[in-house]
Amino acid sequence: MIHVMAEKESPTPHVVVLPFPAHGHINPMLTLSKLFSHFGLETTFAISHRFHTRLNKLTHLNKLTRLPSFHFATITDGAPSDLPKAPFQAFPLFITPTARAAVATELRDLLAGLSPPATCVVADGLMSTIALDVTAEFGIPVIAFRTYSATCTWATVFLKKMVEEGVIPVQIQEDMEKEITSIPGLENLLRGQDLPVICRLDPDHPVLNFYITETSAMCKASSIIFNTFHNLESPIISKFSTIFPKVYSLGPLHSLFKPHITTSNNNDTTCITWLNSHHPNTVLYVSFGTVVCLSRDQVMEFWHGLVNSGKPFLWVLRDDSIQSGDGVVDSVLRHGVPAERGLLVDWAPQEEVLAHPAVGGFLSHSGWNSTLESISEGVPLICWPLIADQTVNSRCVSEMWRVGIDMKGSCDRVIVENMVRDLMENKREDILRSTAEMANMANESVKKGGSSYRDLEKLIEDIRSMSL
Ligand code: UDP
Repeated sequence: MIHVMAEKESPTPHVVVLPFPAHGHINPMLTLSKLFSHFGLETTFAISHRFHTRLNKLTHLNKLTRLPSFHFATITDGAPSDLPKAPFQAFPLFITPTARAAVATELRDLLAGLSPPATCVVADGLMSTIALDVTAEFGIPVIAFRTYSATCTWATVFLKKMVEEGVIPVQIQEDMEKEITSIPGLENLLRGQDLPVICRLDPDHPVLNFYITETSAMCKASSIIFNTFHNLESPIISKFSTIFPKVYSLGPLHSLFKPHITTSNNNDTTCITWLNSHHPNTVLYVSFGTVVCLSRDQVMEFWHGLVNSGKPFLWVLRDDSIQSGDGVVDSVLRHGVPAERGLLVDWAPQEEVLAHPAVGGFLSHSGWNSTLESISEGVPLICWPLIADQTVNSRCVSEMWRVGIDMKGSCDRVIVENMVRDLMENKREDILRSTAEMANMANESVKKGGSSYRDLEKLIEDIRSMSL
């Protein structure tokens, strides 16, 4: 007798995505989750309560429910629920053992209750310890997603070495100017002042140690995802193949399958209406992201520099972005310019703003998402980095990719005015040549057959094969 085995039905792959609780981490991981769902993978996005509420306010999250097989799961970020309004203030608390234990417990409960069960966890590189510890109990792999550039991530791999060699802490002026030789492949690029800002901390500082521990844990993940593209960072991307069996470069993620996954966050058309009244390439867009805080003096220096440059500007000045800022925006407005010359908003639909023909430049804090969004729209940058990876990004923008100017340091009004004039007039032609070339490569990479498109196909295929 011949027994015919019924063909085994393949279980549905189920990906749990675990971002670090900060906007710049959540954005690209949410985009990737939409892509997973678009390709038919069950996807659970484990977001903190705080950011779920915030995203709901800023975007039409309900649109996501139209995506097949996409689910939100809310978990704690370990910080008390009555923290002040800025969700990123959870960061110092997040790195404490108590907070991390609370996150681990909720992740464990989430994984235990999922149906179909999780195939793998895609975890932010900064969530590596929690993700690896918890998934080990379930016997499922972790794919790391590092939301920094490959170049900055490569620098963080050498943090421990830089502590041992005495390069860290970079604190005195002499250290800032020094060329850094501890990071293979970046010897001719980075000076002390260009290293990730955590390199300015004392070697026993908990935040520096958090980065060292998480980076070392991340290197034990089964593979790694970057929001970058091959033509942008290929020599450094290839270095990660010495650590990870598989490296996926999927950037610029926001452009991959855009028409299928876009869930426009444009609740407010003020910016676009204002931009519509300006000539092509005349407006400077100004935004320092979702975390950076400025002093009142810095805000005023920027304001005068922008006004004195004579260029129209659209400036995102978040309520919570000014230290002891009550009433600062009002007082800035009292120095007013005519409405057609300057618009201040609390939030802008940035991707749409950068794609608008009127926008000719971006004065940015050099967050990685903002940098990539600007590169892919061919908008040249003035970089004023303050924290985290921003100092590395701004160096790459000016010295490696030549798509903008690095304005590290003082934001004196005269410097701001000169930088704006350089970007919008004096040095514009040169910068635009490389900006256009880079934008073209970014857009090619996300087209069918392009490097990021192929890496996404490989990633989906690899996840499917995990569930067989
Ligand atoms: N963003 C936005 N509107 C704003 C400010 C920021 O849509 O008014 C988005 C921006 O497009 C980017 C993200 O928020 O995707 C900020 O991430 P980034 O890495 O640039 O900086 P971070 O906020 O993490 O410092």
